[in-house]
Amino acid sequence: MRVSDLANRIQPSLTRKLFDMAKQYDNVIDFTLGDPDYETPDYVKKAACEAIHSGKTKYAANAGIVELREVVSDRIKRETGVYYDPETEIQISVGAMEGLFLTLCCLVNPGDEVIIPSPYWVNYRHMTEILNGVPVLVDADEDHDFVVTADSVMNAVTDKTVAIIINSPNNPTGTVYDHDTLAKIAELAIEKDLVVIFDECYKSILFDHANFVSILDFPGVKEHAVVVNSCSKRFSMTGWRVGYLAGPEELISNMPKLQENIAACVTVPSQYAAIEALRGGDTIPDQMRDGFEKRRNILVEGINQIDKLSVKPPKGTFYAMVNIKKTGMQSEDFAYALLEKEQVAVVPGITYGDACEGYIRLAFTMNEDKIIEGVRRIKRFVDSL
Ligand code: PMP
Repeated sequence: MRVSDLANRIQPSLTRKLFDMAKQYDNVIDFTLGDPDYETPDYVKKAACEAIHSGKTKYAANAGIVELREVVSDRIKRETGVYYDPETEIQISVGAMEGLFLTLCCLVNPGDEVIIPSPYWVNYRHMTEILNGVPVLVDADEDHDFVVTADSVMNAVTDKTVAIIINSPNNPTGTVYDHDTLAKIAELAIEKDLVVIFDECYKSILFDHANFVSILDFPGVKEHAVVVNSCSKRFSMTGWRVGYLAGPEELISNMPKLQENIAACVTVPSQYAAIEALRGGDTIPDQMRDGFEKRRNILVEGINQIDKLSVKPPKGTFYAMVNIKKTGMQSEDFAYALLEKEQVAVVPGITYGDACEGYIRLAFTMNEDKIIEGVRRIKRFVDSL
């Protein structure tokens, strides 16, 4: 059978490849996927069950149920002071993933350029390529905490640029964008009439009292920004598939048409669960955050005791980028050999762009004992090289 060029062109991600390979082993310690092991809070589960039992099991509006859009609007107003009209400026999506895809669908014509700081979450690149857009990668390095400089972003802008994707706190590096860099990027977007796609999915997971700066903190940027978020990481709801977008009406008003042809709407009981999650307090997210901080500390301390490896403590998320350059190995070779010899699965840095060759990414989404055991095995592997 002939399959489309698109289907042939898109490659599976190395993250998934390592995750799938890890499943061959019984006693594996799997640091690959960013899927928190915490349970979804009970009050959220209960809301979904109630929705099911009261018959809220039919199609809903393409934009998402109004009540959820209102809760999202309230939450954004509370957190940033910026108001979005739930009727016209908010879209509910199948996780942040579909939210990002809908945004790019509304912005990218074939040949249009999307600036993506590298290291990058690989889906940004693939989504842009699916739409025949051109990902323009701008490298950031460890010496600058993997934060791309505003100058390098400026230098990458051409008359074909339509958007810049910023992810803070960042997957895969755990870095958090600072005020000055974001201020310049906001200014650039306004001056050049570009859109900043601001992916803040990990904003509830910040360590050492790190300060979160939103793109909405800058005056005049609202018309040039799409804020992307989701319940996945904040409430440990990755499988529920509820995300949301806030942005200018000009853009957001096109999304229901697209949604009608992609998913019709987000699963309705999940939307009711999301209402309770977003309406509720932050006690459970804060507890999870504390748990991740403890795990991060254990991981960072353990890795930094291994000769030839080093890691800077991530400021947020549940990912750590471990520098393996002193082993002299390529990140992919390192990951395959580590899995085979010690049954520890990690993601090769090259997955996230050339700027990350010489690194591996570890997701610390498992309990402390497993992290300690994983680090012990990594040490044994590196010592044997
Ligand atoms: N953005 C980033 C940076 C992510 O890491 C992820 C998930 N790994 C997403 C968006 C999508 O998350 P979801 O679709 O589950 O909301």
